[in-house]
This record gives sequence, C-alpha cells and structure tokens, in this order.
Amino acid sequence: MPLTTVDDLGAVFEVIGWGRRHADERDLAVFRKAQRRLREVFDLGAAGKDEDAVQACNGLLESHPVQPRITSHEDGGEWHMHVTGRGASPSAEYLAGAIWGLAVWMCEYGSGRFGVCADERCGNVYLDTSSNCCRRFCSERCATRSHVAAHRARKRAAPEMVTTAG
Ligand SMILES: [Zn+2]
Ligand SMILES: [Zn+2]
Repeated sequence: MPLTTVDDLGAVFEVIGWGRRHADERDLAVFRKAQRRLREVFDLGAAGKDEDAVQACNGLLESHPVQPRITSHEDGGEWHMHVTGRGASPSAEYLAGAIWGLAVWMCEYGSGRFGVCADERCGNVYLDTSSNCCRRFCSERCATRSHVAAHRARKRAAPEMVTTAG
C-alpha cells in the first residue's frame, strides 16, 4: 500500500479496522521513517547479516517503546490491550505494535527468515514460515507472475538457441 499522503495513512487505519482516524503530516513523517527502518531489518536479515538486523530491530524498539495499557475507549466498549500510553496517536500505537511483533518474530524465527520478494517489480518484504525455509516471493501472485515471465522468456530464447546450435 503506497504511503504518500495523510489520506493514505488514514486509509491504513481504516483497513486494519480502526476506522478512519485523524492523521497529520507529523504522523505521516514518523510512519514513513519507521517504514524505511522496518524495511532495513528485512534487508539485513535477507542478506544474512543477523547481528546488524538485531541491532536495527533494537533501535526501532527504542524509538517506539511499548507501554501496555487496558482500555475500552471510554465508551463502554470491551476491555482490551493497547501498546502505547494514554493519548498516544494512532500511528504511535500502530508502529509500537508492529515493531513489537517484528521483534517477537525475530526471536522466534531468526532474521534468516526475513525476506524480500524475488520479483523485482514487487519488492515487498515477507516472513518465511515455510517448513523447508525456501520461500522466495511475498505472495502466490508474485510467484505465479514470476514463473510465467520466466517461462515466456525461455520460450522466446528457445528459437535462437536452435539456430546457434545448428
Ligand atoms: Zn482499542
Ligand atoms: Zn511480491
């Protein structure tokens, strides 16, 4: 999901079921910076730089500390956990949760399971939870698209190979 305007950020909150929350330019700047740093963790992990990935993740945890708090949004709703203090912006809440989640993954799966989609036009990141640790694409869609493209490329190359061989 592209994140270039304040409206894009509002849409993110809507998608995850928080309703369309107010977001401002400052939220957007914080969000985009965190997005770059989160991506760096995946890049480092995918490149086999385990210690650097852990360090980058720790840096994010420091910048976006978790402060657990039970709330019901003061409207008689059900009690549930939030990960940031009272009055925190939705972006601060979202990022602290995402980064905590990433850190838990890091400990559970190891940074070697962090990957960047092998489809160059995509570039999304993913967590490889396959049993054989062989995932290369972020989604089935990218895997299929990439295999079809490779197949077409082989087909195009085939006649030439025949001529050079003959
Ligand atoms: Zn809530
Ligand atoms: Zn992909």
